[in-house]
Amino acid sequence: MPAEPLYLTTPIFYVNAEPHLGHTYTTLIADVLARFWRARGRRVFRVTGTDEHGDKIAQAAAKAGVAPKEFVDRISATFRSTWEATGLACDAFVRTTDPHHVAFVQRILADIHARGDIYFGSYRGLYCFGCERFYQERELVDGRCPDHQVPPTEIAEENYFFRMQAYQERLREHFEAHPDAIVPEGYRREVLALLREPIGDLCISRPKSRLTWGITLPFDERYVTYVWFDALLSYVSPLEERGLRAELWPHAHHLIAKDILKPHAIYWPTMLMAAGLPLYRRLLVHGYWQMDAGKMSKSLGNIVRPLEVKARYGMDAFRYYLLRDMAFGQDAEFSEAALVARLNGDLANGLGNLTSRVLAMQQRYFQGVVQPRAPEERDDLLRAAFVTARGESDEHVKGLAFHRALESIARALDHADRYVVETAPFTLAKDPAKRARVGAILHELCEALRVAAQLVEPFLPETAARLWGLLGLPGERLQDLDLAWGAAFAPGHTTAPPVALFPRVELVPE
Ligand SMILES: [Zn+2]
Repeated sequence: MPAEPLYLTTPIFYVNAEPHLGHTYTTLIADVLARFWRARGRRVFRVTGTDEHGDKIAQAAAKAGVAPKEFVDRISATFRSTWEATGLACDAFVRTTDPHHVAFVQRILADIHARGDIYFGSYRGLYCFGCERFYQERELVDGRCPDHQVPPTEIAEENYFFRMQAYQERLREHFEAHPDAIVPEGYRREVLALLREPIGDLCISRPKSRLTWGITLPFDERYVTYVWFDALLSYVSPLEERGLRAELWPHAHHLIAKDILKPHAIYWPTMLMAAGLPLYRRLLVHGYWQMDAGKMSKSLGNIVRPLEVKARYGMDAFRYYLLRDMAFGQDAEFSEAALVARLNGDLANGLGNLTSRVLAMQQRYFQGVVQPRAPEERDDLLRAAFVTARGESDEHVKGLAFHRALESIARALDHADRYVVETAPFTLAKDPAKRARVGAILHELCEALRVAAQLVEPFLPETAARLWGLLGLPGERLQDLDLAWGAAFAPGHTTAPPVALFPRVELVPE
């Protein structure tokens, strides 16, 4: 049976700010999962994109003195080029201003309206202009918007509503029957708690008198659709456009940060039900990167620019730090000092140091030519350590515990370091009678590096490719996880002279 395909999405990012750490983390997780599953035989398709309509965009464009379309073209291009420059580009990039997306949204809205699940009504509520949303009294903190710390404005207007409430019971039953539909589990419990209270209906329009920068409702041209149908249908429209909906949509996995849990866990599935589309397969929810104990937020200033971090420390060190220091689902504290400590401590001293030691001995004793194996018990234990690491790290990635996967790989590398100390090839090399044993030890270590390259590939793709090249192996075999220990290096195979994979760095002062 062919493996189930995997359709992975990041949210479409709102173009009122340039790419920052939060965007980068979500997109990185999509990249890690795509690499991991592709190497294990699954078809993977990834989509990211930009959310380009709304008051805030219209205002930001006016402030910049340009038309909204010109403004969103520019910021959207920044997102696209950032993902390309950081190696995180997806298979498709959707923009909510794409004519195909606009037409798709209008078609779905017209369908749902025709079935009677969209109605006209009046709405009065507390509105935060910064958030572009109405607030419930109980969501406010001391009468103020929790994000903007300003009191909302009471406004009343006639609008269109989606009959979300009608689908509440079906949705609750779905999440109760599918324990892995929202992970980690804490977020599913949060959603089930929300579903014990009436969820109400959802206001889905804004009058053009107040907002023109949006998709016109197909059944009333005095209105544009507001946020949710426009934004969330971007998960389906790129598949529709490519004729991939039937094949991929049922295998959708949405990666999101916890601040958009409710729209994804309540609005979106009820919209899908009303549209007669299957529900997504899974919602994967991560926490916040915090700085100075505040939320990493586009509106609060403390910004980490992915291209700047890449320029300072390299993309793989940045990736490693993000994957190693956040437990998926929980919050973590971002610190450049911690990143540097990981780079020097884990990467330079770990995989980097082992690589240069092994390649240096290969060069010094054998001009890089890999010698025959002659396995002893200690050699078998080394191999076993890497077999264990592979099994553990695979299980951890499947459970989204990326930090644990990296710990498992680090344990195997530690084992290899001890193996070097205990077998002491640098001492044996002084005795010409031990030359064959020295060669055999180095062969085992080359295998350890070979497996290490394959294990780190989803997390550290540049490093894996460099290490693979240093070992003299053909690039296409990097994904060949069935390659047996001892089968990678044919007689006469030559490894390259050592280079520093991770030069140590000092923390760059501000
Ligand atoms: Zn607000």
